[in-house]
Amino acid sequence: MSPTIDEIIDALSEPGSFGFQETVDLAVHEPGRLPDLIELAAQRLRRSSNAVNAVLALVPDEELGHIADASVAALRSGADPGDGQAARLIALLSLQAPRTLRPHLETLWDLAPNVRSYYSEWPWRGAGSGPEIDRLRSRLAVEDPETRLRAWTCLMESRTSDGWGAAIDAIGSIPHDDTWAIERFFSVGVELRQEGIRSLINEPPHHVLFQDGFLRPFRWVGIDGHIESPTWTTTGEVAGRGRFGGSIDSPCKVCGRPLCRLLTIDEGPSSIPGPTEFVTCLSCLVWSEGILYFAHGGGGISPAGPEVVPREPEWPADPFPEVPVTVVRSAPRWHCQDWGLSNSGENLNRLGGEPTWIQNPYFPTCPDCGERMPFTMQLDSLEIDGTPGWLWGSGGILYAFWCSRDSISATLCQWT
Ligand SMILES: [Zn+2]
Ligand SMILES: [Zn+2]
Repeated sequence: MSPTIDEIIDALSEPGSFGFQETVDLAVHEPGRLPDLIELAAQRLRRSSNAVNAVLALVPDEELGHIADASVAALRSGADPGDGQAARLIALLSLQAPRTLRPHLETLWDLAPNVRSYYSEWPWRGAGSGPEIDRLRSRLAVEDPETRLRAWTCLMESRTSDGWGAAIDAIGSIPHDDTWAIERFFSVGVELRQEGIRSLINEPPHHVLFQDGFLRPFRWVGIDGHIESPTWTTTGEVAGRGRFGGSIDSPCKVCGRPLCRLLTIDEGPSSIPGPTEFVTCLSCLVWSEGILYFAHGGGGISPAGPEVVPREPEWPADPFPEVPVTVVRSAPRWHCQDWGLSNSGENLNRLGGEPTWIQNPYFPTCPDCGERMPFTMQLDSLEIDGTPGWLWGSGGILYAFWCSRDSISATLCQWT
């Protein structure tokens, strides 16, 4: 007989992975009961459970409003706004369904869940324009500098022109200098310039899908079955096709080995400016050089950027195996993803949209024109089946940037 929701929550309250198997079984056999499990977890789990966090991804969009309501209700009745399950659900919903938090923004302002986390102001991604922005704007005038800063950050997170306008006007009134404020704007994908703002991202985001069996799915140790994030499946509209892996004829300027192909886009998506062929040197990036630049054009790809001292790589690496990939339009629920909140289970191989930063946002400058280079593509650590895995340092992500004017790409990594 399958356990009751209460019994699963009792198990999940224990330390370790008690209750994970029952949660996976429920997700596989009775997914319709997941909303009940999550709502009860919001009330009862004093520490958030990775199992509950993962199964939220399987709940249909139309049920998420109830989960937002239940999480806010749990916080109102005293759930821990720091580490509790309700607070974590608010963080996850601020990415997957910020609209569900819009009716609760005033309550969330007062209850301040996740206040010590980098994602504490993310619910204001759902602020929209109008009264929510006006309320934040009025808080920019209060005496307490921390309140002003919090309101300012919420305005920036709103990603609305009204919110950004108010935040830009108030830069002088927050308890930080202008450089700090300018860098904060990179975290929402824009560059603040004398003449206004310039976007450093291209919408809409897409996911890169590999063929079945190429990557090892993430599993919890000792648990049968796994929870597959919808970001790994072709639920979205197919927007393009391409290939992953292999190498090209051009040599790396550091080690002289053939450059490795990351991704070749054979078809679309035309909305995301970028090269048709993304390359880097797997032997030198991270280990010898922090950023590698490439010039695309004249029928080939060649190294670009500052002079380097040629040297042997410490860890020579072979190119990735070659496989076909599909590029799909990301479902709106997965337009913004966060590395820390992705639970190791989401597909973070993306084209366009906002980058999934691991460290502070960083957009390199083009070696030719000196302008910030917009983000175009990222590849997560790759657990390629039959290999030890490729980690971009250690649990890292590779990011690619593109200057359309000069046809120059840049690759760099962040890791933990
Ligand atoms: Zn190299
Ligand atoms: Zn340029």
